[in-house]
Amino acid sequence: MNRQIVLASSNQGKAREFKALLEPLGYNVVLQKEFNVPEANEDGLSFIENAIIKARNAAKYSNQWALADDSGICVDALNGAPGIYSARYSGVHGDEKGCNKKLLEELKNVPFEKRTARYCCALALVRSYDDPVPLTVLCSWDGNIGFEEVGSGGFGYDPLFVVTNRNCTAAQLPPQIKNLISHRGRALQSLVYKLEHMSR
Ligand code: IMP
Repeated sequence: MNRQIVLASSNQGKAREFKALLEPLGYNVVLQKEFNVPEANEDGLSFIENAIIKARNAAKYSNQWALADDSGICVDALNGAPGIYSARYSGVHGDEKGCNKKLLEELKNVPFEKRTARYCCALALVRSYDDPVPLTVLCSWDGNIGFEEVGSGGFGYDPLFVVTNRNCTAAQLPPQIKNLISHRGRALQSLVYKLEHMSR
């Protein structure tokens, strides 16, 4: 019988990515809205803490295994900002254009070599809401913040994120390549490995 995993997200794009990797392993991935899970209070100070908070919340209301992710971009010249606040950096949740504009403004006097940054993605899987041993993964992806938006793929900060060792932004990468090398792609691959190798 397939094991059910509740995904603590309402993002269909993420759900597709998670399903593609987990369903061939015999996991049945369902969105938390199927269980009327209320939004979690994401008051952690790190990606990992927030991923665990969201996973526990989904497990509590569904009584199922639950998986959550939390991600964002950390810029060295801004002491790690916007970090866990990446989605609402402009002041309005999900205002991607506003966030990119603010980031360029904050870095306007910073030269390219000091515009180092990394995307981070934390994943947490709990087998019950009070699971004392959540399965966690944290992956990052290095780059620099460019001086203008370049490319039309991806989302969020991708047009500003110049990928280290590749002469392009994340928004210029074909989606299959981004999914293979990105913070989220590699975190997922690593979680799948841990899931396959854990004792059940
Ligand atoms: P969340 O994981 O959906 O909460 O995303 C947090 C925020 O981090 C997003 O709204 C984006 O601003 C940013 N972010 C995370 N991953 C990426 C990415 O792969 N590309 C662009 N922006 C990202």
